[in-house]
Amino acid sequence: VTPPPTVTHAFREAARTVPDRVALAYFDGRLTYAEADTLSDGIAAHLAARGLERGDRLALMLQNTPHFVLALLGAWKAGAVVVPVNPMYKDREVAHVLQDAQVSALVCSDRAWEAYLRATAEGSSVHTVLTACELDLQTRNDQRVLDFARTPPGEGAEDLLAVALNGAGPPAGRELTGADTALISYTSGTSGAPKGAMNTHANLAFNAERQRRSGATPEGACVYALAPLFHITGMVAQLAGCVLNRGTLALTYRFEAGVVLDAFLEHRPAFTVGPSTAFMALAAHPAASREHFASFTHLSSGGAPLPPALVERFRAAFGPYIGNGYGLTECSAPCASVPPGREAPVDPDSGTLAVGVPGPDTVVRILDEAGEPVPFGQHGEIAVRGPQVVPGYWRRPEETAAGMPGGELRTGDIGFMDEDGWLYVVDRKKDMINASGFKVWPREVEDVLYAHPAVREAAVVGVPHDYRGETVKAYVSLREGALTDPGELSAYCRERLAAYKYPREVEVLPELPKTASGKILRRELRSRTGSA
Ligand code: ATP
Repeated sequence: VTPPPTVTHAFREAARTVPDRVALAYFDGRLTYAEADTLSDGIAAHLAARGLERGDRLALMLQNTPHFVLALLGAWKAGAVVVPVNPMYKDREVAHVLQDAQVSALVCSDRAWEAYLRATAEGSSVHTVLTACELDLQTRNDQRVLDFARTPPGEGAEDLLAVALNGAGPPAGRELTGADTALISYTSGTSGAPKGAMNTHANLAFNAERQRRSGATPEGACVYALAPLFHITGMVAQLAGCVLNRGTLALTYRFEAGVVLDAFLEHRPAFTVGPSTAFMALAAHPAASREHFASFTHLSSGGAPLPPALVERFRAAFGPYIGNGYGLTECSAPCASVPPGREAPVDPDSGTLAVGVPGPDTVVRILDEAGEPVPFGQHGEIAVRGPQVVPGYWRRPEETAAGMPGGELRTGDIGFMDEDGWLYVVDRKKDMINASGFKVWPREVEDVLYAHPAVREAAVVGVPHDYRGETVKAYVSLREGALTDPGELSAYCRERLAAYKYPREVEVLPELPKTASGKILRRELRSRTGSA
């Protein structure tokens, strides 16, 4: 696999070879490769003029909008390291990231920036704030979003698009190489306080090129951004993958099932990737039909467990097969995936769907507690070595040494490999439930719950128990109109699982708590039970 040195190189190349092709589509707005290239040059020039140096950090806090992409490219062209931040973060969480990454410039919505700066006021390193007009961003079917007529931003901030139009070329001497840090990606925090993984440009370009070569996105095709771009899966599998194929990236602010379905009909995308919860929400939408999914040549689910029952239900109702993919922030998105055209096997013993096969130049090992490889079929910690693995965490040498000894990433996930090379993720090491000394992996129980027709979402956690140490509890949300009582779901699992595994208690919630990237937060459910 020989990727371009950086995604910016690939973007420039696309602007040179297909200048008039639409790079970004946002509701009724369109930007060609040539336009987006020039606008991001303007942002780069402005950032440099404001004193942003090569290697300085720029926090990028926007939903899926053209502004996100222009600011990202502009920052990279100015030689900056981009710190994507979830725009749903509250002040306290933003302050943690801005301070930890020692950010110099901030790009965010015009509604939020003052609060963020207040949150970091003491010793803030932020000297430049560019804002995108939130009203415009949210307005549907509104051409204004790309016509640059807007209210001026508050004092101390400047309007991102006005700056982009300043006409200046990119600053000289800021060209980046593959070895430079492209992103400091704070892990989604499913299991603890976020820490910043340093993805290099080579990490991103490798994974984008791997995807291009897999054939998941045909040259020039439309990619729909289902996953948020501020999450590594959205950034790499959608944005970078699209740019390397000189395709059109279709964006619709944030996930809303009805809006997404409309966008599928309008843009006829060939590829998208999202968490399994997004596919569940799309499948449950009353308007969803086969027609909505007719343009896809490949659908991919990544970043969270994919229940096999969902894949089958989805295929029966809408046609396409959802390919599983396994990745982490530290692997710059996927390190294993299901090649287009193939189908992942289901392990007959546990009912787990394989996450895929390791990509090219990628070595996945399954290790025991002593760090020695285990035989095929045996459980152990998944360890990954390859060109997509980050060199370390930002300013955390101890976590880097412990998390990636000798450059091999210890994922904290338990899995196994079969003799044909398929990788299976059993669960996160730290989510294991110890019921009377028996290991229970929440995933296995959740997969059984998902096979029940009434269940929309399921999450299983351990609850403290005087006698057993822990017992299994399930939280579920139900499909619209489904009527079932928790006792029936418990009995359903009891018929299909060993006595120590089935959930003694099932609680129905309207919806399960999720991270911004769509992952169900078992941690939050555990804290409801007092076992966090
Ligand atoms: P934190 O590290 O702060 O807890 P996080 O682990 O959720 O956050 P990410 O890097 O976004 O941060 O998520 C990676 C994790 O997601 C993997 O370690 C794995 O547990 C889970 N995961 C990803 N893809 C899959 C998949 N296909 N099947 C099952 N689990 C998956």
